[in-house]
Amino acid sequence: MDPLLDRDNAADLLADVAAAAPGYLADLPDRLVRDVASHHLLDGLDGPLPEDGHGSPGSIAELLRIGTSAATHSSGPRFFHFVVGGSTPAAMAGDWVTSLLDQLSGMWAASPFAITAETVALRWLKDLFGLPPDWGGVLTPSATFANLTGLACARQWWGEQHGVDVAADGIAGLPRTPVIASGYVHPSVRKALQILGCGRDTVQVHARDDAGRADLDGMRRALADTGPAVLVASAGEVNAGDFDPIDAMADLAAEHRAWLHVDGAFGLFAALSPRTAHLVDGVARADSVAADGHKWLNVPYESGFAFVRQAHRLGETFGSWNAPYLAPEDENSVDYNCLGPESSRRARALPIWASLRAYGRAGYRAMIERHLDLAERLEFLVEESPDLELLAPAQLCVVCFRYTAAGRDLDALNAALGRAILDDGRVYVGTTVYRGMTALRPAIVNWRTTEADIDLLVTVVRELGARLQLIDSAKIM
Ligand SMILES: *Cc1c(COP(=O)(O)O)cnc(C)c1O
Repeated sequence: MDPLLDRDNAADLLADVAAAAPGYLADLPDRLVRDVASHHLLDGLDGPLPEDGHGSPGSIAELLRIGTSAATHSSGPRFFHFVVGGSTPAAMAGDWVTSLLDQLSGMWAASPFAITAETVALRWLKDLFGLPPDWGGVLTPSATFANLTGLACARQWWGEQHGVDVAADGIAGLPRTPVIASGYVHPSVRKALQILGCGRDTVQVHARDDAGRADLDGMRRALADTGPAVLVASAGEVNAGDFDPIDAMADLAAEHRAWLHVDGAFGLFAALSPRTAHLVDGVARADSVAADGHKWLNVPYESGFAFVRQAHRLGETFGSWNAPYLAPEDENSVDYNCLGPESSRRARALPIWASLRAYGRAGYRAMIERHLDLAERLEFLVEESPDLELLAPAQLCVVCFRYTAAGRDLDALNAALGRAILDDGRVYVGTTVYRGMTALRPAIVNWRTTEADIDLLVTVVRELGARLQLIDSAKIM
């Protein structure tokens, strides 16, 4: 018996999901971000592969029953851990359309619709970030993939400086690729380099302090020694939201024939507000730029984008892999499967297109400025609280601080506090190590977040911090 010949009504199943949505979305702001008490439901996912299926209505009902309780409600307003956006209403609906239409989105021949949506979405994004319209671009699953894309183009360019077509012949026989960065370099840049065969340890870090700020003189000296090199700038690092001096690094790149790659996973969005646009000065002078959609653009996972100044670098790096059935339809058709690391891919342009069309430049600017205000409010509340210590000025949407108490091991106390906050679940923020100190670093990038959520964050941190101290004192006595 082939159950799919029954033509299960897909529309009924989608209606089931739609029927569950209003209740879930209405509760989202009031839910625990992660409810530890719901974790027993995860057992419901388990079991052997069914020999005879349970049928689709019951299976979807089960997925909804478990998921709406046991999922981490990270698209709600109080998930401040890592850097995690929610889905705007238009983006979420656009994502449902993506599944409804289920387009093979790598080739014009497979879907002129998806390709056109991607080309338009990329053009709108370049406009949003102040990047020149003639740059090349491609949507990726994430900023990690966008870093991979930009750095693969950098490697291709660098091979060319040594007379080698790396895409065709590989990097064997070439010297190690010099990659120069400040201490702000994100782990995903190293991951990209390890995938690319350059090696993650090829990164030379030039920092002038223990926060990781760029040592431009050190970079200049290194560039003078290395010959053609890749310079990586961070626009928005994850500990305190700080920026490398991109414009000055663009000068260095110009002086020394280096490729400048900018990792702007969330920080690129500073370009949207006149209050913060100076932080990304010089980004339009880069050779490649990476950013995320699933962070500050608030479109669903997975969403990232890579932009490259010399558009032809993308095709050179990712195209022509000898598959005759993939021949481009004509010279005007764009085949994104030859411009990025993926081949088959979903139409991830649709939620981006829908959200940008729905809210426009002004809508996004308003959201970003609200988040800037909220970060300032959090900074103010931290400074007002005698038991909290601000560790770095809030530049953008990340506020780095810790709990303090006289005579305590503050690293141990804050590590315990981080764990207690996650188990409590009312707000969600974990720890990092900043200048050798264990610290909290909430990132505010979710469109639902308001002042009340920020106030609750401070209340919860102080309450749990005080409770931990009591437990600590009791243990000592
Ligand atoms: C999040 C982040 C990345 C990686 O992004 P993913 O979407 O998780 O792959 C890279 N760089 C920076 C600065 C980030 O904040």
